[in-house]
Amino acid sequence: MTGHRGRHFLQIPGPSPVPERVLRAMDMPVIDHRGPEFAKLGREIFEGCRTVFKTSGPVIVFPSSGTGAWEAAIVNTLSPGDRVLMVETGHFATLWRHMAARWGVDVDFIPGDWRHGVDPAAIEAKLVEDRARAIKAVMVVHNETSTGVLSRIPEIRRAIDRADHPALLLVDTISSLGSADYRHEEWGVDVTVSCSQKGLMLPPGLGFNAVSDKALAASRENRLPRSYWDWAEMLKPNTNGFFPYTPATNLLYGLRESITILLEEGLDAVFERHRRLAAATRAAVRGWGLEVLCQEPSEFSPVLTAVLMPPGHDADRFRKIVLDSYDMSLGAGLSKLAGKVFRIGHLGECNDLTLMAALTGVEMGLSVAGVPHRAGGAAAAMTVLEGRDDTNAAPRLSAAAG
Ligand code: PLP
Repeated sequence: MTGHRGRHFLQIPGPSPVPERVLRAMDMPVIDHRGPEFAKLGREIFEGCRTVFKTSGPVIVFPSSGTGAWEAAIVNTLSPGDRVLMVETGHFATLWRHMAARWGVDVDFIPGDWRHGVDPAAIEAKLVEDRARAIKAVMVVHNETSTGVLSRIPEIRRAIDRADHPALLLVDTISSLGSADYRHEEWGVDVTVSCSQKGLMLPPGLGFNAVSDKALAASRENRLPRSYWDWAEMLKPNTNGFFPYTPATNLLYGLRESITILLEEGLDAVFERHRRLAAATRAAVRGWGLEVLCQEPSEFSPVLTAVLMPPGHDADRFRKIVLDSYDMSLGAGLSKLAGKVFRIGHLGECNDLTLMAALTGVEMGLSVAGVPHRAGGAAAAMTVLEGRDDTNAAPRLSAAAG
């Protein structure tokens, strides 16, 4: 126990804080998962998921972390020796690539500098080159949680279409769903992978695959073995609101409530709130005289901001000082960014004052840790939140949606 009073500030880019309403909704007796009451819950959840993923097709819900949902996407669509195209946007794209390779999939991994998103032109060039149509899937991470870079999925879709290539499009929305604009069907995505503990504001434990007809057709022919992850086994009982095995019932109660919360605010309003909070955070970073890791303004993440430490200063030492002094968790730099960046999560239940508390904690932490910076970053964030300075804003929703 730390002796701190008040609530812990969980400002990592997921798991994000679970709202009281969601906690209360999960505080329920477990029910018979083969009974009529469960069927109603199941149907409501599948319907709600379709609204959030923006699809009229099935959304499969696994009791799993996001990594499980990654695996489900691979084993239901690909075959050993299949070629796929992936892009090194950061730590999570790299992990997904390793998983695909372990399943015997041949990954063409376009190198990246971990400061930019997927370049749609590079995808197009690779697909145009592939005259034999050997590439079976393009697999990209929408919001790269390790870097705070949001890739432009509609532009990637258009690149695939321009190349007139039949590859499936698989997208990891693990840290973007429910926080950044996302449209499974309109954007022509074949498998959308997601999970519960970020924009959906739930505890960890649910993984999702939204699937297109084309992906379902691929799953009837592909040759990777699966049992627990098999879409067909899931979809049969799902039609009536049930699951083939014991579902995570209480997380599903939470999911029903979190979808209600998102829809009460309105998805567009939710995305706009995240965009504002991210713009304010970047204003703070610039105010401190520090650097945002993402170098492309049209790819700034609405979910998190990764901040580069000045040379010679260890981000993990700084994070420890913030945790010890102010009871706030900031995200660590992952793999090759370890010690070099810290990440500020501004997703889920976050509002203006939560963000201001977090940014104030960062600013005080920079002082206590002796990290060279200018004072006044938090004040710069206030001007953005008050609407007095919109110069740090990312493109508005309508423009960004493209
Ligand atoms: N993909 C992205 C973009 C992530 O941010 C994460 C986790 O943070 C994962 C995949 C892995 O998800 P999980 O830790 O739930 O297995």
